[in-house]
Amino acid sequence: MELKQKAAIISDALEALLGVPTRGGPENVLDSLILTVLSQNTTDVSRDKGYARLREHFPTWEAVLHADESDIIDAIRIAGLSKQKSRTIKNFLAWLKEEHGDLSLAFIHDMETEAALALLCQHKGIGIKTASVVLSFACGREVFPVDTHILRISKRLGFIPQNCSAEKAHQVLPPIVPEGKAYPFHMNLIYFGRQICNARKPLCEKCPLTAHCLYFAEETGIG
Ligand code: SF4
Repeated sequence: MELKQKAAIISDALEALLGVPTRGGPENVLDSLILTVLSQNTTDVSRDKGYARLREHFPTWEAVLHADESDIIDAIRIAGLSKQKSRTIKNFLAWLKEEHGDLSLAFIHDMETEAALALLCQHKGIGIKTASVVLSFACGREVFPVDTHILRISKRLGFIPQNCSAEKAHQVLPPIVPEGKAYPFHMNLIYFGRQICNARKPLCEKCPLTAHCLYFAEETGIG
């Protein structure tokens, strides 16, 4: 079976199991970028606490731009990697102010998706996953961010080789994602990865995808 066909079957099976997630309303693009930087290598809870504290301490992004880095680090400490993330945020805000005159990324809505991804990824600390999340969540673009759950499940299902990096997966997976399904497929895979196909002990006995899973075939000899 072709990978594209297999991805469509799996996307349908996950929708039957979990429903069809829909995006919320439009988000502010710069807010979304900073929230996504804070989400790197941490949990959603710590990300949200770090973001809330940052906003409490600094009511505007202008205030973050002019703040001492140590104060930003203190505010976002709970989100982890606070020194690195503080530098990424401050450097990005400085670039935005210098290049565009104000602290808004609204112009991204008028850019082609590939150009917008390239623009965001040219900044240290902003990789393809972060840029893809922003374009998907805040701009409604048909892009497919690959997080740790999606990377693991894609290997188990045989969409990508075992040694495929997250960066490479961002090139290999989008062409097989069913048309118009990038957002629901992304969200459902993450939920599925947290609840069923978890890293240490996947609950294969509860999984509707066993017939398509290389990991299951290898573990059980069935397939
Ligand atoms: S069969 Fe098991 S390893 Fe394969 S996708 Fe389902 S839960 Fe994950």
